[in-house]
Amino acid sequence: MGALKTALFKRVAVIGLGLIGSSLTRAIAAEGLADEVVGFDASPEVRRLAAALPDFGASIADSLESVLDGADLVIMAVPVGAMEGLAALVAPQLKAGAILSDVGSVKGRIIEAVVPLLPEGVYFVPGHPVAGTEFSGPEAGFASLFAGRWCIITPVEGTPSEVVARVVQFWERLGSSVEEMSAEHHDIVLAITSHIPHLIAYNIVGTAADLEEVTSSEVIKYSAGGFRDFTRIAASDPVMWRDVFMNNKEAVLEMLGRFTEDLTQLQRHIRRGDEQALEDLFTRTRAIRRSIVEAGQETEKPDFGR
Ligand code: NAP
Repeated sequence: MGALKTALFKRVAVIGLGLIGSSLTRAIAAEGLADEVVGFDASPEVRRLAAALPDFGASIADSLESVLDGADLVIMAVPVGAMEGLAALVAPQLKAGAILSDVGSVKGRIIEAVVPLLPEGVYFVPGHPVAGTEFSGPEAGFASLFAGRWCIITPVEGTPSEVVARVVQFWERLGSSVEEMSAEHHDIVLAITSHIPHLIAYNIVGTAADLEEVTSSEVIKYSAGGFRDFTRIAASDPVMWRDVFMNNKEAVLEMLGRFTEDLTQLQRHIRRGDEQALEDLFTRTRAIRRSIVEAGQETEKPDFGR
């Protein structure tokens, strides 16, 4: 037990103290992964909220300069669209040997933006914990968020393997299983497993809200018929998801094209009364659900793993 708590880093700086950032500070502290954990958020209100949380696990810096001072691991936990601007401020202040990382839900665009900003001797190891809830802000975080979940690392060419290995070890110590893949592959996989499902949820909830022949009180009253599960996904943070779609356009549009073709085919099966085709598809999809449960990727409380 004692050996497990050995610190991997001297000073970890977490920037962006929302759901993911504040879960990280809690989890890093709980696992004793760093001698010191410091957090910073651009919003004074978020800093104040975080500082008032008894289990926050980190001290709060009041400027970007002070959170970075002496940090050997810096994790950017801000919306995808804010990563480039933040990295431009952070990178020049990092000491040689420091590791910069992130938790963004899109990888290609972030890598393109961040790598040219890195000074000599500073490494960028991009990451994406496939774990989340539909809640935002520091109060929403919790230490066990990453346990039993996947974390995808998309290493940048030329990064020494021991640097990547330290980040892998970091996530494993938080209880995640780690997989390495290219950023391009990550963005395609997440487009179909996460981004498109969110888009569908946003769309169906929006369509229901606009219906004229069904009242909104009926939509709410009968939501247990399936609609309710979509509303949970569609309650996810608007800024985070706006940024995901703006920064993973290609993969999302490609997957959306395929989805639309399949939807048109379903439409045809219904119009033509092709019972067998419908039953075949619904049987196949039920098996996918079973595999997810068997793989331990479903809990009683669904989190729609982001
Ligand atoms: P969140 O709860 O909205 O928190 C983000 C925080 O970052 C906010 O407090 C925001 O402050 C702050 N911020 C924005 N720009 C900043 C800047 N330039 N410098 C410092 N702080 C800044 O979001 P989240 O859910 O934790 O998501 C953070 C990242 O994790 C995103 O990149 C997202 O794609 C990724 N991710 C999310 C999930 C999920 O399910 N939520 C899962 C995996 C990965 P303001 O509110 O004042 O702007």
